[in-house]
Amino acid sequence: MNNAATGRVAAIIPAAGSGVRFGAQIPKAFIELDGISLLTRSALAMSVVADVIVVAAPSDQLKLASDHLANVDAEVHVVAGGEARQNSIANALNVLPEDVEFVLVHDAARPLVPIEVTTRVLTELQSGAVAVIPVLPIADTIKRVDAQNKVVETVDRNQLRRVQTPQGFTRQTLHHAYVDPTIVATDDAGLMEALGISVLTVAGDELAMKITTAHDLTIASALLGVTNE
Ligand code: C5P
Repeated sequence: MNNAATGRVAAIIPAAGSGVRFGAQIPKAFIELDGISLLTRSALAMSVVADVIVVAAPSDQLKLASDHLANVDAEVHVVAGGEARQNSIANALNVLPEDVEFVLVHDAARPLVPIEVTTRVLTELQSGAVAVIPVLPIADTIKRVDAQNKVVETVDRNQLRRVQTPQGFTRQTLHHAYVDPTIVATDDAGLMEALGISVLTVAGDELAMKITTAHDLTIASALLGVTNE
């Protein structure tokens, strides 16, 4: 993909999770969904818009990660991941080429993200937003509970969203958020919030679901079957 008119686009793919919750012997990113690994699928999805792809892989499996990226049409870099997702992304940021203007951070564990979601995020960045995340509404009623599992209150679900990836940032904003390692968040937008940076939301998609358990893989396989029909 050539984004010469607007500055190069990079995707950072954190893929260094151990997959403990998945219960497999291999890191989750190398698990296959209908014959193609989660890492390969996620990288192919990002390569539709990204000129550069930086993958943070398990430190003892860098060669294997490169093998999984052999057919990805982009400038590909593989770095060792860190202890937490945030450390993995910090390592990836260190090798990001200077001429990259926009960065999409996309979990390897979300292999079926549709191009429409990625495009929505990127379009807002190219229109001036500095931080953009795909979200979905919540269908279930949400309760806050106390330490004794008793309901404290019903939370207004109309104001809540489930957050997916790719999360998009200008390169400058993402670097700024990663300067202070004492700020900790479960997603990159969380770092922005801690710094008071405005984060825009766009519509996500159920296909961008995160694969955490073997059950999720079964659901993803079924969704894949539906999209291939
Ligand atoms: O563990 P979780 O599913 O939340 O991880 C989200 C993504 O972050 C996954 O793609 C996983 O491989 C990645 N990750 C990472 N480095 C870690 C932990 C998770 O790159 N130390």
